[in-house]
Amino acid sequence: MGNGHGDESIFDASAAGGREGGKDLAGRVESDSVQWVLQPRGSARMRGPQHFDHSVRRGIRLVDYERVLGEDADTLKRIFPDGVARLWGSTPTQHTGNAKAVALRDRKVGDEVLFYAQNTFIARARILGLLRNRDLAAAVWGVDEETQSTWEYIMALGDIVEFHVPAQPILTALAMTPPLRSLTLVRAAERRRHLRLLDGQAAVAAKRSSAGREPSTPAKTMGRGELLHALGKLDADVPDERRTRHGSLTLLWAIGRLASGQGRLASADVCRSQLEPILHEFGTPGVSVSLEYPFRHLSGHGLWDVVGTERRRPDPVSLAASVESGAQAGLRPEAARLLRQPLARAEAIGLLCTTYFENIDQEELLERVGLGGYAHASGAEEGDGERDGGSESARPSGRRQVTSSRPDRDQRLVNRVKLLHQHGCQVCGLRLETRFGHYSEAAHIRGLGSPHDGPDTLSNMLCLCPNHHVQFDTLTIFIDEHWNVRRSRDGQSIGTLRRHPEHAVDEQYVEYHRALCGGNRSSAARN
Ligand SMILES: [Zn+2]
Repeated sequence: MGNGHGDESIFDASAAGGREGGKDLAGRVESDSVQWVLQPRGSARMRGPQHFDHSVRRGIRLVDYERVLGEDADTLKRIFPDGVARLWGSTPTQHTGNAKAVALRDRKVGDEVLFYAQNTFIARARILGLLRNRDLAAAVWGVDEETQSTWEYIMALGDIVEFHVPAQPILTALAMTPPLRSLTLVRAAERRRHLRLLDGQAAVAAKRSSAGREPSTPAKTMGRGELLHALGKLDADVPDERRTRHGSLTLLWAIGRLASGQGRLASADVCRSQLEPILHEFGTPGVSVSLEYPFRHLSGHGLWDVVGTERRRPDPVSLAASVESGAQAGLRPEAARLLRQPLARAEAIGLLCTTYFENIDQEELLERVGLGGYAHASGAEEGDGERDGGSESARPSGRRQVTSSRPDRDQRLVNRVKLLHQHGCQVCGLRLETRFGHYSEAAHIRGLGSPHDGPDTLSNMLCLCPNHHVQFDTLTIFIDEHWNVRRSRDGQSIGTLRRHPEHAVDEQYVEYHRALCGGNRSSAARN
């Protein structure tokens, strides 16, 4: 066994560990006969990014494909004892002598796959099994409508390590001309000669993402725009029907930990006791809850670290084993540093809520992850002293605690902003008539309450009618860079903020409120 012709045979994972010599970067025992399988991930047109995310990065649940596993069922279950299988397939080729035909014929269990996309090697993984299973391929990736072919030559893969290594130097060293267009096999001797090229650059990438300490000279510092961009496209490569809220919930939970001063990394035990109940309660119904999210699926987005699984990883390493060996998971240092800053944190929370949690009870969710104050512009305390009995009606759920310890506010400022606008709402212009005269409310833009801790100044206030005060406080409307008032839900403009020459509103507070509303999404996307 073990010469693997890419045919119907599938080889046991143990075959990979037979003949060992040398050591690779990770201290793993390295076989002299390991070849490289260079694997183009495929273009968007071929749904390459989606396939990669679905069946390699996340892995497929074997129980979902029980019907089509056929004779491969037992072997796959043995290779993937936690029931989540990482698979990648190739379509058949009519040729016999081209690179792809040779690779399909001569690749074997134990070889290392390098995934390639856009002049970059993006990931590496060991082949744990080879099988040919048309039904499984069709079920996992579909069938090409034109050719009726599917990716039936399947590799079962060990743990995936993602990185960004420029492909050009390696391809050039291998006497190949970029871009890589086809599945290509690199023989063991060639691989040994050039392994250092890959490991050298992969080590740099690994160092950047390794936890323990902050990188001394980060190759690239993550900015707020990049952070938001990454948070906004957690699901970008995933087809709608496969999207779950587990990734975004895990990130929100991690932000909650930061906000309460806890460390950025959490052990498996902590994830089980704190995160899993949240995934159960707020996750997509019908999606099983496991440690897959904190310990595997989030790693590819540049936001997330899993630490302590690299050093002693036998191939195949099961998720359970790495978790039990003391692995920790959490936000990467750069992301954590940004998320400790108030504006970036407000933006991140606003974006997660508006992007992923539209249909769930955000107030309850934020409360559960320790970010309750972010559900309202005014913060955890009642910010308005002017409404008569209106505070509860403003919150249909009535869940908020209104305490007596609300920040003191300067009544003279309240009166002043109302007087300047003559009780006219700055959003709609309404001057609400009552038996006792006109009525309006003074709203702080960046709330006085925790965690916003805005200042009690005229430049941080608006004069609003009760309706628009409720909408402003519940983050339903925000003010954009050009003083247009917009709905958070869809960005639709509902008018322009009415301003008074003697009432200068400070844009930084408007920006903070907009961040809470997820209203910076469009500008983040442009970066
Ligand atoms: Zn109004």
